[in-house]
Amino acid sequence: MATFSSERMQADLAGLGLTTLSADAPLAAHSSWQIGGPADLLVEPASVSEVCTVVQYARAHGLPLLVIGQGSNLLFDDAGLRGIVLKVGRRLADLEIAGRRISAGAGLWVPGLARAAQRAGIAGFEHIVGIPGTVGGLVVMNGGSRRQGIGDLVRRVWVVDREGNQASLTRQECGFGYRCSNLQGSGSLVVRVELEGRAGEGRQIRREMLADLRERRGKFPRKEPNCGSVFLSTAAMHASVGPPGRIIEEAGLKGASIGAAEVSRRHANFIVNRGGATSRDVLALIAHIRQVVMERIGFELQCEVRYVDPRGGVMPADRALTP
Ligand SMILES: Cc1cc2nc3c(=O)[nH]c(=O)nc-3n(C[C@H](O)[C@H](O)[C@H](O)COP(=O)(O)OP(=O)(O)OC[C@H]3O[C@@H](n4cnc5c(N)ncnc54)[C@H](O)[C@@H]3O)c2cc1C
Repeated sequence: MATFSSERMQADLAGLGLTTLSADAPLAAHSSWQIGGPADLLVEPASVSEVCTVVQYARAHGLPLLVIGQGSNLLFDDAGLRGIVLKVGRRLADLEIAGRRISAGAGLWVPGLARAAQRAGIAGFEHIVGIPGTVGGLVVMNGGSRRQGIGDLVRRVWVVDREGNQASLTRQECGFGYRCSNLQGSGSLVVRVELEGRAGEGRQIRREMLADLRERRGKFPRKEPNCGSVFLSTAAMHASVGPPGRIIEEAGLKGASIGAAEVSRRHANFIVNRGGATSRDVLALIAHIRQVVMERIGFELQCEVRYVDPRGGVMPADRALTP
């Protein structure tokens, strides 16, 4: 890889017409955990053609490129990232509804999508109303709750591939599985999604959404920064050993901490940042939880949360090198 300074990347991309560029951008400001050092350059594209431009530029110069949404499922490294972070957010967040079909820009805020579906009387989106991410991140993670995933509602996904060309994929081609999809690690960036729900009744959908939000408020940590569920909770795991929150709680780990990272006292499948936690603290705490659970019940917990290394590699946090 050529050595490029932040200033050089910023100047090159400004010359190619990109406008929202931040050099040495602290990633902690783009992560729900509020953890992470600086990225050389953070770009917020306003159109699909800008996404293509950034992908082609990074590829031409061999620069690491990471796409993020809200960073609500990501642990950035304390060293940050040597390369470009492409943040797909508000500037790519348009929404169109026709019948029971919804076409959404990848940067749309998930609760906003759920509310738009409710207002249009489209059912099926109730379980995503409390998920604080973008539509792109949700589709890539096949996120959802109540054991459902957004993949069930996807009709087609438009992407910019690793060469910077536009393409579209059917639901089958996306290969959705429990909290995963073929889009992960493919190098493709999601820019638009078409979804289809069921005919529903607006007031009933609203009641279900409010019930979901109430339940979340009662169960999840409210104020301390966190990244949602740290460990995967699959159906097979439920059947054999139970949900991760219960396993971790029964292992006596509620409130356990390393540095400023702490197992939430409200819900043991959450790790909260008590102020100034580092990625090392979180990785060490994840390793500790996994070891205690393995010794206690012989079960290997796997992470839903993704760790981002300083070269832009993304992996389940349990696969990161333990400090
Ligand atoms: C309080 C809280 C509650 C949560 N509850 C839930 C829940 O109930 N269910 C659930 O499934 N998740 C939950 N999460 C986790 C998280 O919100 C979801 O995984 C969400 O879908 C991630 O979206 P994001 O935009 O933040 O993605 P990010 O965290 O920014 O990225 C996640 C992954 O997707 C990739 N990515 C992001 N955008 C794109 C794109 N446009 N194209 C290609 N790749 C992309 C990233 O590279 C990364 O690998 C919760 C998180 C928090 C903080």
